[in-house]
Amino acid sequence: MQTIRRQIISLLEKEEMSAKEISKAVSIREKEVYEHLEHVRHSLKNRKKKLVVNPFRCGLCDYVFKDRKRFARPGRCPQCRQGRIMAATYRII
Ligand SMILES: [Zn+2]
Repeated sequence: MQTIRRQIISLLEKEEMSAKEISKAVSIREKEVYEHLEHVRHSLKNRKKKLVVNPFRCGLCDYVFKDRKRFARPGRCPQCRQGRIMAATYRII
């Protein structure tokens, strides 16, 4: 558990990645990545680093989920009510 989080942190310190890319890199499911990101964000608070989120975006109307508190992928767009959501990406700076 701890090791996966450390792997995710070192990946995101090097490059910006989506949850799907992280899931492939550390061999866990995308759903689990979102849970880990929650803890990663928390643990970075004491380290003068932060997790920067480039938020989910609707692929049809360009609606940006910028005030989203949770990490998990949104089901559909509140503006056009479609489900073509473009992945968020994450980076640690
Ligand atoms: Zn939309």
